[in-house]
Amino acid sequence: MSFPWLEPLFDKLLRQYQRGHLHHAILLHSSVKQLAKGQLAVWLAHALLCTRPQPAACGECKSCQLLNADSHPDFLQIRSDTSISVAQIRQLVAAALQKSQQSGAQVFIVERCEKMTESAANALLKTLEEPGQQKYFILTSDAPARLLATIKSRCQLYSVTPPSLESLNDWLQDKGIDKTQFSSLYPEFAASPLQALTLLEQQAADKKHQLLNDFKAFLSGRIGPLQLATHFDESLFDEQLDWLITALQLWLKKQAENKPKTPLSLKICAMQNSLIQVKMQVLNSGVNKKVLFQAACVEMSNLLRG
Ligand SMILES: [Zn+2]
Repeated sequence: MSFPWLEPLFDKLLRQYQRGHLHHAILLHSSVKQLAKGQLAVWLAHALLCTRPQPAACGECKSCQLLNADSHPDFLQIRSDTSISVAQIRQLVAAALQKSQQSGAQVFIVERCEKMTESAANALLKTLEEPGQQKYFILTSDAPARLLATIKSRCQLYSVTPPSLESLNDWLQDKGIDKTQFSSLYPEFAASPLQALTLLEQQAADKKHQLLNDFKAFLSGRIGPLQLATHFDESLFDEQLDWLITALQLWLKKQAENKPKTPLSLKICAMQNSLIQVKMQVLNSGVNKKVLFQAACVEMSNLLRG
């Protein structure tokens, strides 16, 4: 997945590294959750460990290969949904006291470092202050106010800022997401694109569930074609047709297991065709999607019961 809002800060950090100005302890923070700060930490770690950075990681050198296989001996990442214990931090500190095994940099990530217990945070302080040559610590936090001042003072702080809606145009387009729908949710999350995306996906899943339930009722004759079209959502036009086409495909497969080419299986094929036709017709500009969908529902009803 791409995260365009991280790219300016990533470039800035890479430039600092190239110039030899990158601080050995970095805190990536934001007050908004789910901005993929952990991903930024990982990108940076890859660039620092790569032996042929360009300036981001090359993806091909031995170091990059070890990272991609999750087996780089000079990289350690702590990530926890609950608290981060002193034992975990002691393990990290012990690793940081070792020499680099690949004769390059060593990188240690602590994600959501506000989850460190007080004794864990204290155990990190000394190493954070004097880590030694080519040893980097990248911390991330959603709640920098909860961090010990002594942790913050030992780090260079970088704020990850939420992107504006306008800057997400290409990102939304790549994902095939309707901008109007997305923008109605986006401010609710104090601008976390990933949270808004998750909710949109959840809403789409709920709509799929509802439409397929209605479709079952329609196929068994409990509701009519116009009732089936009630929950039509223009922003999910293609998706809805695909859900129905797939449902018919599964039904057809089930039929074919028993007896191929029954009158019913021919009807199912014809219904699929009428939905595929709708997908093609909509390519003509100016057609009303809801009217098309209603017409397809009526046609399917005629095919099924005709
Ligand atoms: Zn590399």
